[in-house]
Amino acid sequence: STKYAFFEGQIVPIAEAKVSVMTHALHYGTACFGGIRGYWSTDDQQLYVFRLLDHTARFLQSCRLLLMNLPYSQQDLADIALRLLRQENFRHDTYVRPLGYKSALKVGVMLHGLADDVTIFALPFGRYVENEEGASVCTSAWRRFDDNAIPARGKLAGAYVNSSLVKSEALMNGFDEAIVLDHHGHVSEGSAANIIMVRNGQLITPPVTANILEGITRRTIMELAEAELGIPVVERDIDRTELYVCDELFFCGTGVQVAAIVKVDHRPVGAGTMGPVTQAI
Ligand code: PMP
Repeated sequence: STKYAFFEGQIVPIAEAKVSVMTHALHYGTACFGGIRGYWSTDDQQLYVFRLLDHTARFLQSCRLLLMNLPYSQQDLADIALRLLRQENFRHDTYVRPLGYKSALKVGVMLHGLADDVTIFALPFGRYVENEEGASVCTSAWRRFDDNAIPARGKLAGAYVNSSLVKSEALMNGFDEAIVLDHHGHVSEGSAANIIMVRNGQLITPPVTANILEGITRRTIMELAEAELGIPVVERDIDRTELYVCDELFFCGTGVQVAAIVKVDHRPVGAGTMGPVTQAI
């Protein structure tokens, strides 16, 4: 039910937003994206977009990592997204997807000296993880790639081959999601979500140097936990076996929102149900 897209500088019917099979991004994964939620309020008859400017800022950082020069500022992209949402007129929770891509029709592995473009579209969006109240997850057999191979702090299209391997393995083995370790064996994040552990009254989450995406939901929760709930937040490495002995565990991200993890590798997390801190958050 998506009707429009921002494409090649203007809002057009979605059927007209098409690229050539020769597009560089399609061959080499040389694209980057964002994912933004809008929450529909029936009371206010308004769509509230969550931290839009934070998202457009991170999107532009991903573009920088791919040597893209888009003629749009953080504010321009936010304005375009809002214009698109007004035109779509969804009266439902919504997901907005900006995508920057190497639009050059060129065969050749490189990032520099190629034309770039941006497209944005939106779609109605509900849950991303079925079991938001009690996910059963595994530790993935796949590892997270390192910053000096592909930077995880950018939402780079090609990098999501790793996430897709992780997610399909988990689902095909009957789990809801997976936790990915880095090459040191420390916890990195989920396939498309950050992870936060509750242990001894603290929120503990891997640092931004642990090959994670610098999640906007993660940062929001870290701020709210300290300011509103008085819970201290610590960024440090997490070992795999800490997951087996911690009190609570949850994923956070635009898609998963806050998803309680109640089992890791078939072992119950804490009491095996959503804990009070996760509930409060
Ligand atoms: N990590 C990865 C790999 C993701 O794809 C996402 C979803 N964008 C997140 C973490 C969560 O980030 P955010 O809260 O900004 O959506």
